[in-house]
Amino acid sequence: MPSFVMKEKCDGCKGQDKTACMYICPNDLMVLDKDAMKAYNRDPWACWECYCCVKICPQQAIDVRGYADFVPMGASVTPLRGSDNIMWTVKFRNGMLKRFKFPIRTTPEGTAQPDGGFGEGAGDLKGIALFTEPESLGIPVPTINK
Ligand code: SF4
Ligand code: SF4
Repeated sequence: MPSFVMKEKCDGCKGQDKTACMYICPNDLMVLDKDAMKAYNRDPWACWECYCCVKICPQQAIDVRGYADFVPMGASVTPLRGSDNIMWTVKFRNGMLKRFKFPIRTTPEGTAQPDGGFGEGAGDLKGIALFTEPESLGIPVPTINK
């Protein structure tokens, strides 16, 4: 089921140009109603329930209704993202709560290297090798001359 915004919780990311949910949605579905300062999913049919917007929302204002076979009636699965971990709160149909906490990064915040340390220009868009190859494989990658 697609994501939806709980309007009473959404603060429009305090009027920033691009809200957190707009920034993160890989399908560009979230938009901000600037008059109401509330976000909404503009095309629920195109939502693939990836949970990115749910996880990033600082107000926990977004939810995804689970399919009945995955999340039976009355149950819910709610993430709460921290700077180095994510906590999933699972509520069962009988009201039982279970929480699972997982680390989400291996480096301190702000220190990850976007290119993984392989340097700019390591990849050739026309080559058959992936960006970090052959260094990451440790073996030469054959080239095809056309
Ligand atoms: S990220 Fe959350 S608080 Fe920010 S605009 Fe989206 S729904 Fe509202
Ligand atoms: S669940 Fe994923 S695809 Fe759907 S609106 Fe949120 S970020 Fe976009």
